[in-house]
Amino acid sequence: MNEMPQCIGCGTVIQTEDKNGLGYAPASSLEKEMIICQRCFRLKNYNEIQPVSLTDDDFLRILNGLGQQQGLIVKIVDIFDFNGSWLPGLHRFVGNNPVLLVANKADLLPKSVKEKKVINWLKREAKALGLKPVDVKLVSAHKGLGMQEVVEAIEEYRNGKDVYVVGCTNVGKSTFINRIIKQATGEGEIITTSHFPGTTLDMIGIPLDDGSSLYDTPGIINHHQMAHHIDSSELKYIMPKKEIKPKVYQQNAGQTLFIGALARFDFIQGERSAFTVHVANDLPIHRTKLERADQLYEEHKGELLAPPTSKHIDQLPPLVRHEFSIKEPKTDVVISGLGWVTVQHANVVVAAHAPKGVEVFIRPSLI
Ligand code: GDP
Repeated sequence: MNEMPQCIGCGTVIQTEDKNGLGYAPASSLEKEMIICQRCFRLKNYNEIQPVSLTDDDFLRILNGLGQQQGLIVKIVDIFDFNGSWLPGLHRFVGNNPVLLVANKADLLPKSVKEKKVINWLKREAKALGLKPVDVKLVSAHKGLGMQEVVEAIEEYRNGKDVYVVGCTNVGKSTFINRIIKQATGEGEIITTSHFPGTTLDMIGIPLDDGSSLYDTPGIINHHQMAHHIDSSELKYIMPKKEIKPKVYQQNAGQTLFIGALARFDFIQGERSAFTVHVANDLPIHRTKLERADQLYEEHKGELLAPPTSKHIDQLPPLVRHEFSIKEPKTDVVISGLGWVTVQHANVVVAAHAPKGVEVFIRPSLI
C-alpha cells in the first residue's frame, strides 16, 4: 500500500474514511499534489475550526507531547457534565505548564445560580482531582458571555508563549475557539494555519500577534458521558438547549421521580421536602410511589418513561443505584450530563439511579 500523504496545513496523515476523524479529506483530493485536510480547509477558507475526535491512545500520545512544550493549557469543561468532560490524568501530563480552567455553557444555568458558587465548586472539584488551575472562568462560547474576560486571562497567563486548548468532545471547544478567532480577526481577514513544527501532535495552530500560536487539540471521547449512550436522534431532548427552568416537587418519603427513562430519584427517608429538578426543559418527569417504581420501570421504559424511546432503550446501560444520606439543607444531587436535583431539607436519605458509568455525586447548592 502506498503511504498516505500529509496535510500541508497541519501535517496530519491524510485519511479518506472517517469524516469526523483527524486528517480527513475526500478521496478525490488524493489526486492533487498538495493536499489539505478538511479541518485546515475550513479554517483557511471560512475561519472556522471543525471538531474532530480521537481514540484514547492517540490522545494520550498528544497529552504526553504537551508536557514537553511550554505554554498555557486552556482546559474546557462542560458545566453540565463536569465529570463526563474531565480529562483524567491531565495534571500529570501538563508538566509545569499553567492550566486555565474554562467551564462552558453558562447560558444554560438558571438565573438564580450564583457565579461565585459555581467557580468555588469548580475549584474544589479540580483540586480533588489533582489539578490546580491558575484561574477558573465561566463562559458561554455559544452566546459570547465571559469571552472577553477569558481572552484577557489567556493573554495574561500565557506570558508570551503558545496556548493549547484541550477538552473532550462536545464540551464546545470548537465553538470557543471560533469565538476567539472571530474576536481576533477583522472582517474578511483570513487566518492561516500554522504547522506544529517537527512533531506528530496533530494540532492545528492559529497565529497570535507575537508569533506564538493557539493550538486546537483533537477532542477525546469520554466514555462516561451520558451523551454516548443516547442515540443522536434523541440527544436533543436530554441536552439542555436553553436556560433551565427549575421544576419544584413537594415530596414525601416513599415517593420517586423518574426523569424520562434516564434516571430515577427515590426519597427514602426524612420529613416532607421540596425537590427542585434542574434538567432540560422538555424532559418529562413522572412521579410515582417508591414501592411501584421497579415494576413501572420494567413495564414502561421506552414508552411512558422516555426518552430513550423503545427504539433506542436497549442502548441505555442499566440504571445503577447511588444512595446518599444528606445532612445539610440545599444539597444538589448531580447526575453528570443530565442535570441535578436540589434537596431543600436537611437530614434526608435519597437514592439516585443513573445509567452505569455515569457519575452521580452531591455538592452544596449553587443557588
Ligand atoms: P467540541 O466537540 O468540544 O468541539 O464541541 P462543539 O463546539 O462542536 O459544541 C458541541 C455542542 O455544544 C454543540 O451542539 C454546540 O452548539 C453546543 N455548545 C457549544 N458551546 C455552547 C454554549 O456556550 N452553550 C450552549 N448552550 N451550547 C453550546
